[in-house]
Amino acid sequence: MVIGIDMDDTICSTNELIIVEADKYDKEVLGGTGVKDVKAYEFADMLGWGKEMKGQFFSDRLEHIMANAEIKENAKEVINKLYDEGNKIIFISFRKAKYIKDPYMLTKTWLDNHGVKYHDIFTDTGSKVDECVDNNVTLFIDDKESHCEEVSNAGIDVILFTNAYNSEEKRFVRKDTWTEVYDYIQEKYYG
Ligand SMILES: [Mg+2]
Repeated sequence: MVIGIDMDDTICSTNELIIVEADKYDKEVLGGTGVKDVKAYEFADMLGWGKEMKGQFFSDRLEHIMANAEIKENAKEVINKLYDEGNKIIFISFRKAKYIKDPYMLTKTWLDNHGVKYHDIFTDTGSKVDECVDNNVTLFIDDKESHCEEVSNAGIDVILFTNAYNSEEKRFVRKDTWTEVYDYIQEKYYG
């Protein structure tokens, strides 16, 4: 089967590093005092940043953050196992050329450096559902509710991968870890 997988906060912990780097950036570059509101939903709100500051931060640091984000526990092991078992693995990411010189190369380099096997990578996608349909994706895994909703509405199975912000979402199959993803796939499609 064809499995479509998101990058940020699905196979790597991007948001955690964004918060750490944004706190540093606020203090070192913007002369601020760092995170003020730890309970805010979004990192820019934690720092009291407007759109412009967020844009400046992304232009300066997003490439570095994405290149250095840590891989999630067991992501490599599970994805490579699924690959070795004959599944087609494709990565589908919204990463945009707006803040990153070459989103495709950045993503490819990260996956290669972490030893993750795949058949294809799509970045800067207009719509994730188009990539899923064009590539006959059977199952799509993403941490963002809106992407899961779009893809699910096209009749494609989805897994919502748990992140810090999506705990209230109840409409989709949810998995907290890559080991759970593997067990679910075995049971649902190969059981
Ligand atoms: Mg994501």
